[in-house]
Amino acid sequence: MLLVPLKELSCFSLLSSLGVEPLDNNFSGSFLLELFKNRSLTLKAALLNQKIISGLGNIYVCEALHCAKLSPLRLVKTINHLEADILVKAIQDVLRRAIIAGGSTLRDHRQPDGKKGTFQYTFKVYGREGEQCLQCHHVEIKRILQSNRSTFYCARCQK
Ligand SMILES: [Zn+2]
Repeated sequence: MLLVPLKELSCFSLLSSLGVEPLDNNFSGSFLLELFKNRSLTLKAALLNQKIISGLGNIYVCEALHCAKLSPLRLVKTINHLEADILVKAIQDVLRRAIIAGGSTLRDHRQPDGKKGTFQYTFKVYGREGEQCLQCHHVEIKRILQSNRSTFYCARCQK
């Protein structure tokens, strides 16, 4: 643990390069569009980039993109206002539900009291390769590799 005086917090080296906190009141669709402007990154890569948005891990990016019905392969510069608003709501919804569930215990994650998180039981895409999409009930969830990380998504729902 590190204690830092409040007035030095914004220039503290470990925090100064971190992107926006997704549950911050200032995080909105228009804010996200500004961050995405002119960037040739995929949605998956951008959302995992801690310098753009802080605190989103692989599971939560996969789940949020499925919830927002956006393809992890889309370039961020092609996202419009409506899609950005939907994506912000999806990210916040997934994070809030995960916090309430105590996180996702796939291996060793534990809550402070030692209990396992239960969010893994509600995954819609993560780890569900080959299983039916719970949104469209038509196709199987695909797994692809993006920057050496697994991406799970529905090619029918997510455009
Ligand atoms: Zn689907």
